[in-house]
Amino acid sequence: MLTKKTTIPFKKKCIFCKKNYQTEIDYKNIELLSKYLSVKGKINSRRVSGNCAKHQRKLAHQIKLARYLSLLPYIQK
Ligand SMILES: [Zn+2]
Repeated sequence: MLTKKTTIPFKKKCIFCKKNYQTEIDYKNIELLSKYLSVKGKINSRRVSGNCAKHQRKLAHQIKLARYLSLLPYIQK
């Protein structure tokens, strides 16, 4: 028997688009960037993080930069 899904769709909003959000997305801000990494160290998708395209692009770029400077791991076991 198929059961109907009763999940209510809930739209996440990009926190960086908020008016009074001061924090810049920066490769030195490891605390912020690590929030957008999965358990295995991969970058969370837009569907998961809820960011807009513009900020997701910037975030991914800054994470890659931080990885290159070995501030963040490429992969976690
Ligand atoms: Zn945004």
